[in-house]
Amino acid sequence: MTSTHETTAPADLDPANPFAAPSALPYGLPDFSVIREEHYEPAILAGMAAHRAEVEAIATNPEPATVENTLVALERSGQLLGRAARAYFNQLPSDSTPGLEDIQERLAPLFSAHRDAINMDARLHERVRALADAAEAGDLDLEPDTAYLVEKLMTQFKRSGIALSPGDQDTLRELNARITSLEASFGRKLLAGANEASVLVTDEAELAGLSADAKAGARAAAAARGQDGWLLEMQLFTHQNVLASLQDAATRERVQSASMARGATGGENDTREVLLELARLRAHHAQLLGYEHHAAYTVADATAGTTAAVNEMLGRLAPAAVANARREAADLATVSGAPRRPEPVEGSDGVAAADWSFLNEAVRKERFNLDDAALRPYLELERVLHDGVFKAAGLLFGLSFVERPDLPGYHPDVRVFEVFDAVEPGEPGTGLGLFLADLYTRESKRGGAWMDSLVVQSTLLGEQPVVVNNLNIVKPPAGEPTLLVWDEVTTLFHEFGHALHGLLSDVRYPSQSGTSVPRDFVEYPSQVNEMWSWEPQILKSFAVHHVTGEPMPAEWVDTMLASRIWGEGFSTTEYLAAALLDQAWHQLTPDQVPTSVEDVLPFEAAALAAAGVDFASVPPRYRSTYFNHIFGGGYSAGYYSYIWSEVLDADTVQWYAENGGLTRENGEAFRRKLLARGGSQDPLVSFADLRGRAAEITPLLERRGLV
Ligand SMILES: [Zn+2]
Repeated sequence: MTSTHETTAPADLDPANPFAAPSALPYGLPDFSVIREEHYEPAILAGMAAHRAEVEAIATNPEPATVENTLVALERSGQLLGRAARAYFNQLPSDSTPGLEDIQERLAPLFSAHRDAINMDARLHERVRALADAAEAGDLDLEPDTAYLVEKLMTQFKRSGIALSPGDQDTLRELNARITSLEASFGRKLLAGANEASVLVTDEAELAGLSADAKAGARAAAAARGQDGWLLEMQLFTHQNVLASLQDAATRERVQSASMARGATGGENDTREVLLELARLRAHHAQLLGYEHHAAYTVADATAGTTAAVNEMLGRLAPAAVANARREAADLATVSGAPRRPEPVEGSDGVAAADWSFLNEAVRKERFNLDDAALRPYLELERVLHDGVFKAAGLLFGLSFVERPDLPGYHPDVRVFEVFDAVEPGEPGTGLGLFLADLYTRESKRGGAWMDSLVVQSTLLGEQPVVVNNLNIVKPPAGEPTLLVWDEVTTLFHEFGHALHGLLSDVRYPSQSGTSVPRDFVEYPSQVNEMWSWEPQILKSFAVHHVTGEPMPAEWVDTMLASRIWGEGFSTTEYLAAALLDQAWHQLTPDQVPTSVEDVLPFEAAALAAAGVDFASVPPRYRSTYFNHIFGGGYSAGYYSYIWSEVLDADTVQWYAENGGLTRENGEAFRRKLLARGGSQDPLVSFADLRGRAAEITPLLERRGLV
């Protein structure tokens, strides 16, 4: 017998710890009014112990495996750990303290050991395999979500190396440890190398064009290192933002060369040796697990499935993107007062990479003269939220939102909204979940914007979703309205798209809830939601002057729309070049990986040429030697994901357009066929169910002006 509710917390967790029992607040919102930093670690440790004990009971159950005593029991296990860890990992990036950071340092190896202990449990594997075999033989009838769960679990076991001999398992563990340490080393070298690559300017005249703020920042950066002058520091990507404003061509050239040389300058911060070893060890790791190379290993667990599918998609986009970048280069070359290079750079169509964004900025100012300062009074946060983001969700999905100031957030800036479903005018509707909006920047919050879940929806556990959106909007002085720039409006819609994926989830198993989908799919619903910021009905509703109530002038809207595809040739090309490099390095078998550091840049050049993206005016967004996403951690062989999701997104935008746009009926279809399904079936099946066919690439090409 499995109990419906988890048993009481383990004896070694203080019952006064707020995580010891499920929260009594609505929707299981963690009670942040009593949670303190010191509650997290003991709750997580006790949660790990409890989870292990629950898993042990499943693994040693003398009864033959059944769906109930194995799969359902696994899905029910780990609830204490889940609620404590979710609250902790939500707070860590959003409102961090040195104490919370220390906890992470202590717990990171324990989390990885905890996962391994479960994924490498041979007894558990046997029980799941027995169910998979019985289903395969036709002796056991599994419901579709359960069948998909079994399939995913078997994949997870395979990828953990459970089927390997003890000797190979040891090798695998050694490889994992070495890979992790090489990734950390790549990151460290990159950081030190970026400092080393900073460009020191001692003659102020060479900084002409730079804003006063940027200059002051550069001055302070130099002073911080005891240098006299102005220090132009490196951002991670190739194309440095200062290039758009620096009027002096020689300074631009210095910045561009320093940026592109990172990681290949010899000496301590050279990353070439590390990246070669990483490429080789990852390939070895993949082969040990039965995959041809690391890219095959990575995409097998994504919606792409095979590297052939990834190559095909990148291969179709690349020529169109480069052709468009070449058209843009021709356009830039005609800018009046454009820097004329005495010796055009080979293969650059007359526009040097260092000059691109300076010329681009000139064109942008001339053709799309949009002033952020003039736009902002029309983009006031409360209106954007209520008359934009929430309104679109109401019209599409029948949702309504009521602020609950009585419910505690984890920081005073956090606002809690109760979400109601299918509300009729004048009716209260059914409570669906909670949406927490943590929109302001602060020192304790990391940069960027993201969505998180505090409670994941599951009918098995009877839980409704509690989701969080984090943004980094600068807080105005007390009593003043928060006025946004257009990018922040888009980000708000984007993150809310993730929130909807969590809120509208309607699945049985918690592991399949909402955003529990592969990373090449997870950005898709959020990208789709961005479209509503441009929808005339929605835009008209929120883009209203916060004092006068006047709508935003129509010609501004037209200009904004027109400016959207300007520059897409450049940005698509630099992105695709990086994505192709990622694939090139990770589609090698161990013995195909070059052995000498001298071969790294030639390999890169050959890979770009083979893919047709060797256009010198537009270098890759990241070169191999400073491609932190893929060599410093998580995104190896996965950098293609952004555009993969965007193919689905653009095709869906077209589906809406073909079916009448912003209607309740379309929203309902998108909700039921796609958002609600979460990870309970192959996400591409959900997509085809909605679209009536597999995804096509043309809508993306059209959107980016690449046709
Ligand atoms: Zn996103």
